[in-house]
Amino acid sequence: MSRRLTVLAAAASAALLTGGAAPPKMQEARASQAPQRLARAGQADRIFVNGRIWTGEPGWPLTEALAVRGTTILAVGTNAQIRVHSAKGTEVVDLRGRFVAPGLIDGHLHLLGGSLSLEELRLDDAFTFGALAGRIRAWADAHPDAQWVTGRGWAYAAFPDGLPSRAQLDAVVPGRPAWLVSYDGHTGWANSTALRLARVTPETKDPAGGEIVRDEKGEPTGALKENAMDLVGRLVPKLLPHEKERALKNGIAQAAAWGLTSVHQAGIDAEELEILEGALAAVARLRVYVALDIERDPTPEALARQGELRRRFSEGRLRVGAVKGYVDGVVEARTAAMFEPYPGGGTGLPNFTQEELDRTVAAYDKAGWQVMLHAIGDRGIDMALTAYERAARANGTTGRRHRVEHIEVARAGDLPRFKAAGVVASTQALFPYPNQNHLGVYVPTLGPERARRAMAFKAIDDAGAVQSFGSDWPVFTAEVVRGIACAVTRTTVEGTPAGGWEPSQKLTAEAALRHFTRDAAFAEHAEKEKGTLAPGKLADFVVLSRDLLAVPPERIKDTKVLLTVLGGQDTYRAREF
Ligand SMILES: [Zn+2]
Repeated sequence: MSRRLTVLAAAASAALLTGGAAPPKMQEARASQAPQRLARAGQADRIFVNGRIWTGEPGWPLTEALAVRGTTILAVGTNAQIRVHSAKGTEVVDLRGRFVAPGLIDGHLHLLGGSLSLEELRLDDAFTFGALAGRIRAWADAHPDAQWVTGRGWAYAAFPDGLPSRAQLDAVVPGRPAWLVSYDGHTGWANSTALRLARVTPETKDPAGGEIVRDEKGEPTGALKENAMDLVGRLVPKLLPHEKERALKNGIAQAAAWGLTSVHQAGIDAEELEILEGALAAVARLRVYVALDIERDPTPEALARQGELRRRFSEGRLRVGAVKGYVDGVVEARTAAMFEPYPGGGTGLPNFTQEELDRTVAAYDKAGWQVMLHAIGDRGIDMALTAYERAARANGTTGRRHRVEHIEVARAGDLPRFKAAGVVASTQALFPYPNQNHLGVYVPTLGPERARRAMAFKAIDDAGAVQSFGSDWPVFTAEVVRGIACAVTRTTVEGTPAGGWEPSQKLTAEAALRHFTRDAAFAEHAEKEKGTLAPGKLADFVVLSRDLLAVPPERIKDTKVLLTVLGGQDTYRAREF
């Protein structure tokens, strides 16, 4: 559709949208003013009627029907208003009262890691060593030819001291090297064979930004934090490009089945970007907004190389627009950077000095990049915000929409800085999931004062920040419905703890949905194209089995995705739809 027609259709449909409230005479006047060509332009390929459609647009949030032409939305309105767009050849889809939302956007995930997690050894939700050992042994027995025993997802809560040991793993996997990564990806667990192969001994020094955990005698215990994970991780046989591509294709299809139409890839290197390009060409069911891995103090050559990728992927389904780095670690491993010590000591493990971070952020800011910084502790979050504020001042830039990723334990006084500096709050809806790990390790590691201000989604909204929701898949599942359920109830799927954890931070379902749609679109500079259902926007939407806005909060989790539509094409259809 030409630009002019899009504008005309948008104007006419805007009239339709408000038509319900406008006096009939007004509608007539508008219709008679509509030029002839609009009628032709206004014929839909498909119309969806009899739905309960949440558009995400502030002025007219709920309606009944929508019309699609090509890859975009032609009109949104009442059944009668939309049927006008139906002609010979138009497919009519009866939604039978189902709930429709804009296509769901995951604002922070790791597509390859998530895709691989669908097929590798998973240790999630095993909160005792016995349960972990059973799964690890079963996998090792089922894969006798695997050189290494690898997997991910163990929770700190499965270990009495909050960290695993090589002796425990030796008992389960005595012969082969074994390497298992924690659910958050920030701590690794090696057995003695793996440590020996990696030549990790009492003499080995901690790498910058990492820690080899040691016992009283100075012996490595088998737990490796942050950058120390590389010591063993780099020895694990790498997947071949075609194996990564195969995994990605499955992951992309799975994402569509979860109702996702767009995702934000939080960090990737040039080689994996190419593999992702191949996978998306083969399975065209997702839009991916990509953050490249940040370079510390980037050289002009590095900026030029990354700038070239940004130019090459400037439009279409795969778009490069950001760089992503880590300011600190995570709470359970006590590597998140804090102002006050953890109970038991230590204030975390920042990955940058403030000066380094300022220089790095300013260089990217100047070159027009959006910067995404992982920052979890209150000090890490302050460092990220400070670097953004200083870069904007030094470069005289605005509107970069830099982002802080995770924002778990911000000081209340720092929340208004997001709005003031135009920084996006990129949080993860399932992070406050109050399971045994969260209540048994996460909360005590913070201590009561900090725990009360952790994952403060409501306070972030109240401070006026744009809050984009994501999953951090494979840290948590990318099932958006599960994320919304958690943000609304602050309980597990079993409903515990009663009333929810830190219930003052519960969101309404509509706010949670907005963070997974409109706000996530804003976070990738794409709110003009997607994130709400409005004429002229991409026809990305999802049909759900339940009305998220009307169903009791504790039943949100049972909602099924029935249909996912991307640019007018079905990317997932449930058998029952
Ligand atoms: Zn992440």
